[in-house]
Amino acid sequence: MSPALAQRIAAGEVVERPGSVLRELVENALDAGARSIRATVAGAGLDLIEVSDDGQGIAPDELALAFSRHATSKILSEHDLDAIQTLGFRGEALSAIAAVATVEATSATSSGQAGARIVLREGEVREEGRRARAPGTTIRVLDLFAGLPVRRSFLPNPRAERAHLLSLIRLYALARPMVRFSLTVDGKEVFHCAGLGEPSALAAVYADQAARLTPLGTHTLSQGQVHGYLGDPGLTRGNRDGLSLVLNGRWIRPKGWLSALESAYQAILPHGRHPVTALYIDIDPSLVDVNLHPAKLEVRVRGDEEWRMELGALIRERLGNSLTPAALLANPLDRPRQRTLPTPRRSLREGGPDYGEELNFASMRVLGQVFHTAILAEAGNILYLVDQHRADERALYEVLATQENVVASQELLEPIRFEAKDRDLEIIEARLPELAGLGFRVERFGRRTFLVRSQPTGLPEGTAAALRESLAGSVDEGPNWRERLVVDLACRAAIKRGTALTDQEMLTILERLQRCASRTQCPHGSPIVAVVRAEDLARHFKWP
Ligand code: ADP
Ligand code: MG
Repeated sequence: MSPALAQRIAAGEVVERPGSVLRELVENALDAGARSIRATVAGAGLDLIEVSDDGQGIAPDELALAFSRHATSKILSEHDLDAIQTLGFRGEALSAIAAVATVEATSATSSGQAGARIVLREGEVREEGRRARAPGTTIRVLDLFAGLPVRRSFLPNPRAERAHLLSLIRLYALARPMVRFSLTVDGKEVFHCAGLGEPSALAAVYADQAARLTPLGTHTLSQGQVHGYLGDPGLTRGNRDGLSLVLNGRWIRPKGWLSALESAYQAILPHGRHPVTALYIDIDPSLVDVNLHPAKLEVRVRGDEEWRMELGALIRERLGNSLTPAALLANPLDRPRQRTLPTPRRSLREGGPDYGEELNFASMRVLGQVFHTAILAEAGNILYLVDQHRADERALYEVLATQENVVASQELLEPIRFEAKDRDLEIIEARLPELAGLGFRVERFGRRTFLVRSQPTGLPEGTAAALRESLAGSVDEGPNWRERLVVDLACRAAIKRGTALTDQEMLTILERLQRCASRTQCPHGSPIVAVVRAEDLARHFKWP
């Protein structure tokens, strides 16, 4: 195998698509300490990807070297590998890119020396010389994958790639809010961020929706710190692109962390939607292993299970706190889908008419049940309609979700037996201790049969019977299986719509809802309550 061919094969791991080139070039610019990074793209990255920075530059006699394999100026010893502070460290990117494209680089340092220029094609140096320029580096990548028609044919369509390039630049702008970024696509500037700090980065990325991201404050977790912004539950996306997680200045997206974030939101988000966050985590770099993947897409953090739990708990608490009557009242009958939840209590006083009291379901006067689905109640000058199923579901969910390591559990008079599918047996078996922690004592009984012997105290009779399906439904879920199970179980065990309720039952439902940390959305994220204000009626009827 010729060295050129070997090089092209290795390049495939690093340079998979135009977005990979943009990433590597931007990361190099950031590692060079750039304050300003301009990216220019044409032909969805296949014709041109250019990244220009004002960083420290490359000395003329090192420019060719930067393109040779395993050339890196960032790691000097093995010791450095244990605490990588730069985004790059493998010394592979430039050589890999030069193996699959034509590359022109110009660079100058601030030493006062003239700059240099180099052109490479198929990994070989074709031109080399001096070139005057301001300190910094510009790398132009032309005709990417021109010699690799098969690779080209597997690329996503140009529109998708352009969207990907834009979302990458946005992620970097969020990850490095003090750096100025711009992206020009086919001659048009599509993104610009002034680099004036986090709020300006959020404004650049989320435009007028930036106001819906609430600062989380700075929190110390067991091994480091986290700060950032949480989108309100009404600010959602159809995919995970809005989840920005920055670990030591490096944006990351390992599945486990994203799932932990999402599961913290799950109970208040509409099904199938994803939240928007910008979270910054800073921990000792020696706890982080970034050297797992040629394209550096994965990281491993020592003790990250604990981290994820702490982070999840913090976010849950934050989101729970933000559900208040003010939020609810911003959401009357005629606009049921719109949810604006962040500002707690404060806005009750600040904005608009004074609604006076806290939302208190326990003190409402129950007027009756409507359509066999909702409880009609009144308090102050507001009429409330409470979805009976969702209210009960929320209460059950909170009981179950907070049961960890306790638990008052109650023997069933008659154990419930169920059979599991072969493929689920081992997973269920492995989860029995955690189920016991939830208050469900389950035993294996024969090869495919399990017996449920107890359920948490205070839950309705049918709960244990619903366990089988909920278990089966959460088998494929990874670390978040418990959350999934609990949400599902609460839904199955809750009072159904269509059930007639006595006054006493309605009172009990409202009292239990009142005891919940989050009282306005069911665990699937749908609203529990609708309100009609006396003043809305007055307006409607044109009462004097
Ligand atoms: P790595 O980033 O892993 O070190 P690369 O192949 O991406 O490897 O880059 C090789 C070397 O070229 C870097 O270590 C750095 O010294 C130099 N370099 C690349 N891009 C820039 C840049 N924009 N500014 C300054 N130096 C750069
Ligand atoms: Mg690099």
